[in-house]
Amino acid sequence: MKTIRFLFFALLSLYAFRSPAVEGDIPVKAFLIAAPDSENLKDFNKFIKEDLKKEGVTHLVVRFRYKYQFKSHPELASEGALSEEEVKSIMKTCKEAGIEMIPKMNMLGHQSGGTNLFPLLKEYPQLDETPHVEMPEEYEWPNDDGLYCKSYCPLHPELHPIIFALMDELVEVCEAKALHVGMDEVFYIGDDKCPRCKGRDKAELYAGEVTAIYNHLASKGIEMWMWADRFLDGRTTGLGMWEASMNNTHRAIDMVPKGIVMCDWHYVNAPPTIGYFATKGFRVLACPWRKAEVAVQQLEQVQLLRESAPDVIAERMLGVFQTSWTGADNFMNAYYGKEASDRDKENANCFKELFKAVTELEE
Ligand SMILES: [Zn+2]
Repeated sequence: MKTIRFLFFALLSLYAFRSPAVEGDIPVKAFLIAAPDSENLKDFNKFIKEDLKKEGVTHLVVRFRYKYQFKSHPELASEGALSEEEVKSIMKTCKEAGIEMIPKMNMLGHQSGGTNLFPLLKEYPQLDETPHVEMPEEYEWPNDDGLYCKSYCPLHPELHPIIFALMDELVEVCEAKALHVGMDEVFYIGDDKCPRCKGRDKAELYAGEVTAIYNHLASKGIEMWMWADRFLDGRTTGLGMWEASMNNTHRAIDMVPKGIVMCDWHYVNAPPTIGYFATKGFRVLACPWRKAEVAVQQLEQVQLLRESAPDVIAERMLGVFQTSWTGADNFMNAYYGKEASDRDKENANCFKELFKAVTELEE
């Protein structure tokens, strides 16, 4: 009888004092920054080497879009595009600092901004999902066309050879193990006037493009990161049309490969969506912008789930991914306490507070 009682208490104590689902440091502490201008390259590399390393950044996502002198498609380089040598200097700096560099492009949506058409649709207007929507002389939101930014047509037969060549080049020059492909805020998809897409299921169209890009990267052993907003139902969650989908693309979550790293951005509060993505089978990163209290709440959620969820879910909580949506020089100025806009100051402060909280958590 004594033995049985002993065994019972031994098992109970094992259960009560079992270690958290996943132990150790949070694996990914990422930071998103715009690619610098050539004249700021030296400061940018110094910032990586001296500051980002010290802060504890593990992954630096550099937002290139078309800001690279592509050799496969020189016509698609945007103004001020960086040369191969310049990008390699960033890559080497990251390597020396022990930080993984991940280049970022925008696939599908974000092919224009304000009154400007970006290089892909400027050079290849046939790829425009909504050629009937003219670029305005003055941009304002809302507008009659519902134009936030243009999308390319995912079903155009000329599309993939072009964008895959750009993706391959960026991955190669950055010696990257992962590529961030954007794909956020897609409002133009399956347009009624597109001869290829009209009448099709928007979730299937979205999932089809996500999967095509994923498969291309996977065939080269490259991981795919993307923004997760189109996989959330904006109505049911109350998250609305920006950080979630109001055009039914959310059902695509059950149609895409589970190997995607979901970058779940929320800038005003911390909904429980990282748990949703992990439960669906995806690895996930919580992504704040400029509200420090929200960033810390997101970190707390990551940590709570790493400690309390079943192992398979806990392991999918990769960590946090601080965003910035300003020029690299603006962010650095704000970070160093130099003259900067209130918005950039708030952003830099959020970054510092988040990384401070991570350090405290890991101590
Ligand atoms: Zn189309």
